[in-house]
Amino acid sequence: MRLTVLGCAGSFPGPESACSAYLVEAEGFRLLIDFGSGSLSALQRYAGLHSIDAILLTHLHCDHMLDACTYVVVRRYAPDGPYPPLPVYAPAGAPERIATAYSADEGSVEDVYTFYGLQPGSFPIGPFTVTVDQVNHPVETYGVRLEHGGRSLVYSSDTAPCEALLRLAQGADLFLCEASYLDAVENPPDLHLTGREAGEIATKAGVGKLLLTHLVAAWGSESLTHEEATSTFAGPVEIVRPGARYDV
Ligand SMILES: [Zn+2]
Repeated sequence: MRLTVLGCAGSFPGPESACSAYLVEAEGFRLLIDFGSGSLSALQRYAGLHSIDAILLTHLHCDHMLDACTYVVVRRYAPDGPYPPLPVYAPAGAPERIATAYSADEGSVEDVYTFYGLQPGSFPIGPFTVTVDQVNHPVETYGVRLEHGGRSLVYSSDTAPCEALLRLAQGADLFLCEASYLDAVENPPDLHLTGREAGEIATKAGVGKLLLTHLVAAWGSESLTHEEATSTFAGPVEIVRPGARYDV
């Protein structure tokens, strides 16, 4: 599997990055996980406008799904289009939410996307075995485990500490985990993780490598987040950047 980070900014686009979007490829199949604000630009820069075979949206917060609305134009109105409907795996309500955010007056987007509702469990997408489970965030949100060729990549999505994430991350070769908060401040409960908490989960789950993402540039500190994570996880830790690629 190959992971390409398209966007990794937490909560809103940062000066250096779009919001969450991760392209995972295997056997020529390309799965886009999350499609946050600004990431359609990064998709063209680091992959290609039509380099997607399926989309998985972990939840329906704007910073994880808004460019799925923008992308309607790309497929519906392309000079060589329209393009056939693209599979979208997403929480309940995604068809209505994307259609409404695209336009209040133009109705369904089901000419562009074929929607599949997510629920906890395992299923195939292309060559991947995908396992999702509901994590600890204020809306219906799924952590994701991808397996292919005996290797595993786990993505936390947005979550506070929870058992579901620990189960998903068990023994993962690569653990892409959010670290939105800093430890030293009073953080709201049941929303996000700190670098220290990401490191603790990585240690308990026995992952191979920890990638930190969803940092909020305007409110956080990369150096402190990295320090926190390395204080609780002894393995390799990296903060991801747009355009970064990882072979799993
Ligand atoms: Zn969220």
